[in-house]
Amino acid sequence: MKVGIVGAGMVGSAAGYALALNGAASRIAIVDRNRDLAVAQAQDIAHAVPFAHAATTVEAGDYDVLQDAGVVILAAGVGQKPGESRLDLLARNAEVFAQVIGAVRAAAPQAILLVATNPVDVMTHVTTRLSGLAPGRVIGSGTILDTARFRSLLAGHLGLAPHSVHGYVLGEHGDSEVLAWSSARVGSEPLASVAAQLGAAITGEVRARIDDGVRRAAYRIIAGKSATNYGIGAGLARIVRAIAQDERAVLSVSMCTDEIAGVRDVALSLPRVLGAEGIGATLVPELNPEETAALAASAGLLRETADALAI
Ligand code: ADP
Repeated sequence: MKVGIVGAGMVGSAAGYALALNGAASRIAIVDRNRDLAVAQAQDIAHAVPFAHAATTVEAGDYDVLQDAGVVILAAGVGQKPGESRLDLLARNAEVFAQVIGAVRAAAPQAILLVATNPVDVMTHVTTRLSGLAPGRVIGSGTILDTARFRSLLAGHLGLAPHSVHGYVLGEHGDSEVLAWSSARVGSEPLASVAAQLGAAITGEVRARIDDGVRRAAYRIIAGKSATNYGIGAGLARIVRAIAQDERAVLSVSMCTDEIAGVRDVALSLPRVLGAEGIGATLVPELNPEETAALAASAGLLRETADALAI
């Protein structure tokens, strides 16, 4: 499958690199308003292909290079100006998307759109509105990475492989996100039972440490390197693989949702089934009352931001 990337900065280029290595794309096409940057990133990524498992061609150009793409990753965005509010920044990124999405839709009308630009939930909502596509064809990377962090921190505590630990981070990709502890499982067993058998109880201290490790990870990475890119790049490549190979994998990603926890018309992350048509179904985990309230609060915050942007 051909995969387009709009925005060749830190996140877009990391996604391209991860895609070249995971072999999910037969062709990668990169667009950026800074054309020289797009060309340079395409060349650099192309030079990794001989070391990868599968052959992928990588090119850069204007929007017409996106023709025939099955998925287009949207990673374009503008940085925060000094003194600018979060909402002002969001409004400027929404303006960037107004141009970008029209051009992407004209070049690749059949493409599923995969939104990476932050704040990713609101940008997913904006993209759904601007594109006119069915909600399941506009996917936000959402909490895919937060869920991966949750599983790997839990697995580390238990001394198990992350692949055998199942638990999702729901709601906003950001401060109000919800770690769904009550539905976490190891294999098919409830977390508490397995933790007791392994002598690795989930104490309040352990919960707090893992919660902080998931919720504050991006802040810590940004403090050290001014951006986060490799983790999200790999997460985007994972989503593309699920679509390209029609996997019907369950991944926590963002999408416009009619109603959740009493909040209507909001884009946020829940475990969702991903395949060739995009998102095929949503699996709402069983939550305890505290988690349900936290998810309602997270959804309410996202709805307020959408209201402020009039979407
Ligand atoms: P991030 O860390 O989120 O990837 P960057 O600033 O590194 O942020 O990358 C954002 C990229 O988006 C930049 O390369 C920028 O040139 C690109 N960009 C901004 N506006 C547009 C636009 N209207 N069309 C295409 N690319 C854009």
